[in-house]
Amino acid sequence: MFSRILRPKSVVASVVTIDPTLIRELGFKVALLDLDNTLAEDHVTHPTEYSREAIQYLKSLGLVCCIVSNAKSKRSADFAEELGIPCVSYANKPSTSGVFRALALTGHKPDEAIFIGDQIFTDVVAANRAGVYSILVERVTEEELFYIKLKRPFEKLVRRILHF
Ligand SMILES: [Mg+2]
Repeated sequence: MFSRILRPKSVVASVVTIDPTLIRELGFKVALLDLDNTLAEDHVTHPTEYSREAIQYLKSLGLVCCIVSNAKSKRSADFAEELGIPCVSYANKPSTSGVFRALALTGHKPDEAIFIGDQIFTDVVAANRAGVYSILVERVTEEELFYIKLKRPFEKLVRRILHF
């Protein structure tokens, strides 16, 4: 039960190491993406070279991209706009509401989507609950806000218990 909700379907080092074969064989059409520590360092205001590279890579796999962030609307909306992709802010992860808003926005079904994020208790849980294929990425940097830092030991424990 906990395992079904907490375990990502796949774990990768970064967005650009996601296996193209997986995307092709499972027929995914859309990539929903966390922002902080997934596409760039925590709390950035502008896309980095890595952000652009990551979006470019996903697009080259034939995926439509959409950011799904718990961040305030202006920061994540501006960030997404600079990348030329849509964005759902105040996503409320681990609630599924933001994930479903993003699917509605892009016109896709849960089984056509992957969700890429760096946090188990928000990103992975929201994706798994919504029936979206969850991909956990290792965080971009270890510098992050204290309330996120607080969750990391628990994530470590879950990863040790569930072996991922
Ligand atoms: Mg994050």
